[in-house]
Amino acid sequence: MLWRLFTFLIFQAAGATIGWMQPGPLRPTLGALLGVVGGGVIWLLIDMSRGVRLLRWLRLGATSEVAMRTGMWGELSDRVRRLVRNREQLTLESQSRLQDFLAAFQASPNGVVMLDSHGQIEWFNQIAASHFGLDSERDKLQHFGNLVRDPGFASYFSSQNYSTELVMPGRESTPSRPVKLSVQLHPYGEGRLLLLSRDVTAVEQAEAMRRDFVANVSHEIRTPLTVLSGFVETLQTLPLDEEERVRYLALMALQAERMQTLVSDLLTLSRLEGSPPPGGSEWIQVGSLAADLEQEGRSLSAALHGSPDCVHHLLFETSFLGALAGSRNELRSAMSNLVGNAIRYTAAGGKIKVRTTLLPDGKGEFSVTDSGPGIAEEHIPRLTERFYRVDRSRSRDTGGTGLGLAIVKHVAQRHGAELKIESQLGVGSTFNIIFPASRMRQPSA
Ligand code: ADP
Repeated sequence: MLWRLFTFLIFQAAGATIGWMQPGPLRPTLGALLGVVGGGVIWLLIDMSRGVRLLRWLRLGATSEVAMRTGMWGELSDRVRRLVRNREQLTLESQSRLQDFLAAFQASPNGVVMLDSHGQIEWFNQIAASHFGLDSERDKLQHFGNLVRDPGFASYFSSQNYSTELVMPGRESTPSRPVKLSVQLHPYGEGRLLLLSRDVTAVEQAEAMRRDFVANVSHEIRTPLTVLSGFVETLQTLPLDEEERVRYLALMALQAERMQTLVSDLLTLSRLEGSPPPGGSEWIQVGSLAADLEQEGRSLSAALHGSPDCVHHLLFETSFLGALAGSRNELRSAMSNLVGNAIRYTAAGGKIKVRTTLLPDGKGEFSVTDSGPGIAEEHIPRLTERFYRVDRSRSRDTGGTGLGLAIVKHVAQRHGAELKIESQLGVGSTFNIIFPASRMRQPSA
């Protein structure tokens, strides 16, 4: 400031000196006039030109360079530059924070849609785009309610009550492949809404399966239980002769056995689901396993037909006599289920062939082929579902639970194996379990 005053005075002194140096009687007046006006005006002009420079510098926004270095204008330009740079820095920081937030929303496994106070789309992530078929170019600022036409969603959207989530059909939902979305709106800010969506198809399917399973188990247990309690009542109320009593008790034992088999199959399934898959360190001799299966099969064939001997042509062909890595109990359960099914569904006198071979690529194959009734093509993909039966009465009559093939599939999966089913109505069926080569070991010399 002092410097400014000093230069101003210098300019005035210079003006006065120039006026004083002029010839004539008006020298003192000219000196005073030039000193006050001329010096002051020149000083003002110079000062204004610096001001204009600063203004132009500000307008151009070239705040990375310094407009002036000295004097009051220099300090002013420096302070403005620093202020602007601080603002720019803050803007950059908040922009990068915004990008971070948006990237986090983008990485979310759920769909996220931000709606303004009019219900128009401000922003959405990729998952939301696929859930609702949104296009980032086309649908920005569109009213969300106009884009999602599901009636359930429309009434939820307009209800203003978003305390619970809504489960609605997904965009690609079809009757054969239902897709379910869980959607919830969360109000925030001034009338804005955050919409979160989640694909709950698998959860809904699991829940439906759980419900079906409980219903099926209850039904399967209730049937023999009803028969049993009927017999108990008969025995309690009616005077029966010895022959009738023995017959009723035998029928009761059959129903009890049926329930026992069901509970045992259910426990097997739950064990298979709840335990880690068997490792590859336990080696089972295929020859002895096949011998056990053959004996069991022959007894079952005889027992089912009330005959002292096996009534089927049961042929065991065990060309691979090495070892198989896995759980003996599980493998035996799966294989005996397949042999048992072949015996149960093939009429007396039918042919059943059980083969264990090593395939050219080193994989192992266990196959059961029968000359039974065969299975129509449409049933084949569903055979391994729990309680799925093609021939309901034959299954029940022969002590089936509807869980056998579900167990076989589980055991196969746990051993890295594949279950293949081929069948032709009226000709017969073949059930194969293909084991990976890593689980097969050749017999040692
Ligand atoms: P189940 O205890 O009823 O036999 P499974 O799960 O073992 O249950 O089999 C499912 C259904 O597949 C059976 O109910 C039966 O209708 C059909 N099935 C299984 N094996 C055979 C077979 N070898 N021949 C004909 N049908 C079969």
